[in-house]
Amino acid sequence: MEVLFDSLGLSEEILKAVTEMGFTKPSPIQAEAIPSLLEGRDVLGQAQTGTGKTAAFGIPALEKVDISDKRTQVLMLCPTRELAVQVTEELRRLAKYKKGLKLETVYGGDSIERQIRSLKIGAQIVVGTPGRVMDLIERKALKLDFVNYVVLDEADEMLDMGFREDIDTILESVPDERQTVLFSATMSKPIMGIAQKFQEDPVQIKITRKEVTNENIEQTYFEVKQRGKIEVTCRVLDAYDLKQVIIFCNTKRKVDEVTEELSSKGYSVESLHGDLRQTQRNQVMAKFRSGAANILVATDVAARGIDVSGIDAVINFDLPLDEEYYVHRIGRTGRAGLTGKALTLVAKDEKYRLRQIETYTKVKIDKGVIPTFEDIVGVRKARFISQVEEAVSTGDLDLYEDMLGMLHHTTGFTTEQIVAALVKINMGVQKSEFADNDLAWDADRDRRPSERGFEKRGRFEDRGGRGEERGSGRFGDRGGDRGPREGGGPKRNEPGMVRLFVSVGRKDRVQPRDIVGAIAGEAGIPGRVIGSIDIFDAYSFVDVPERDARKVVEAMSGNTIKGKMVNIEVAR
Ligand code: ADP
Ligand code: MG
Repeated sequence: MEVLFDSLGLSEEILKAVTEMGFTKPSPIQAEAIPSLLEGRDVLGQAQTGTGKTAAFGIPALEKVDISDKRTQVLMLCPTRELAVQVTEELRRLAKYKKGLKLETVYGGDSIERQIRSLKIGAQIVVGTPGRVMDLIERKALKLDFVNYVVLDEADEMLDMGFREDIDTILESVPDERQTVLFSATMSKPIMGIAQKFQEDPVQIKITRKEVTNENIEQTYFEVKQRGKIEVTCRVLDAYDLKQVIIFCNTKRKVDEVTEELSSKGYSVESLHGDLRQTQRNQVMAKFRSGAANILVATDVAARGIDVSGIDAVINFDLPLDEEYYVHRIGRTGRAGLTGKALTLVAKDEKYRLRQIETYTKVKIDKGVIPTFEDIVGVRKARFISQVEEAVSTGDLDLYEDMLGMLHHTTGFTTEQIVAALVKINMGVQKSEFADNDLAWDADRDRRPSERGFEKRGRFEDRGGRGEERGSGRFGDRGGDRGPREGGGPKRNEPGMVRLFVSVGRKDRVQPRDIVGAIAGEAGIPGRVIGSIDIFDAYSFVDVPERDARKVVEAMSGNTIKGKMVNIEVAR
């Protein structure tokens, strides 16, 4: 049966606000928790991030508060300032039509005097971190004598952060005649202990994974050697043109390492882990939200509960140690009807954990093909072209208009050489340290046929050779240094492959994945058998297996790529 907000017995003010916020119907946890809380029951809930817990405990709180009384009636405890602020903001939106309602957020790292002054004026609802709430109780600025509704949000994280004693003390100073709401992503013994001690016959709610495994999230994994993970992360970031990404690692040390490596490669990246002070956390989150940094590297605990909209992918740099964490991690993307990607890097010794996750979530995670260095160069070239277009259309180029003449004159190079050099300097493609087939740990299976030429060497190295020391066969030597391929003619295809000419190119904003997608989709052949792709301005070349060539040509004739009609034929 579908539950609607109308059927939950809410006030006009709340219904109006909820509608304005674009909520069409309650989330499962809201549908279950709100009626029980309105009835006065305690609630013990287990649910992941992004399931709508704030409104689940927030709406009943707003309905119960006596606005004519200025004293504090509701106390909500959150593990971090970030979360406290997030909860307050959501409550403010929900309380938009509850005139006279005052909310106050209290947390460490901000002037306690200011918070004391605000509390003096009176706030019916106080949201805060346990440490600061304790301080304010001790200073007698926060009085809990009239609190009748207490929320512990993300309780497991509060315990992880060492707030157990504070929580005990705080809950002991709230009158017994009260409702206690406890939400936690995991239900450990200590959490059950708190529930037993401070709750009375709570209604237990568990939002099962089935309800949270989001259909909007495209889940892919890449088999990659441990030491190739950074390289694959970069390739994935580039190939999918990801704008806002969270990268998850299992440890703080790994977070630091990944952050450092990515930032040395020119990515704008910030990191979040348990050791940061509150002010640092805030700075990091502000940068990430505003887009000043588009990659956030984080541990599970540090990123818990963070609600940033528009994250287009989550990358699991390590496989999480707990299946539940996987569900949490990927739940950061694909929110609010948008689609998202969950990309998981799997080293050989992590494969069994991937299987465990699949069993647990009952979702099959697709195996992805690591983008080749050529793919990346193609993507960067396309990006460079749009940057040039933008720079020209913005104008203000007068100061530099004599540059081509100067370069010709002083260097004697051709225009092609000069442009190629400028592109190389600007595009930021760094020579790949890895051959494409040197990244995957199981290079013998599911390899792109274009990599066949490396077969023997790849196997040999798996047994102990150090890839980095090898001279020939490194991808950088293979193509990266040559710059744009002269002339744009079809290069020699790999054995067993046929090179096809495709009448769309960079000017149609076609990227390798568009071609792979169209061919795989239309001709019904797996994307991984499609070989190397070269994209030029007006046309492209793609290698396909000999036996599929005919099928591809037939299937593609009269079809479109990126909305453009294509002509496809065997290249001369
Ligand atoms: P949680 O605390 O469980 O991680 P939040 O309460 O922060 O989740 O909610 C996550 C996001 O979903 C917020 O942006 C919130 O506004 C939105 N949201 C909550 N409830 C609904 C609903 N019923 N319909 C649509 N969006 C909702
Ligand atoms: Mg929350």
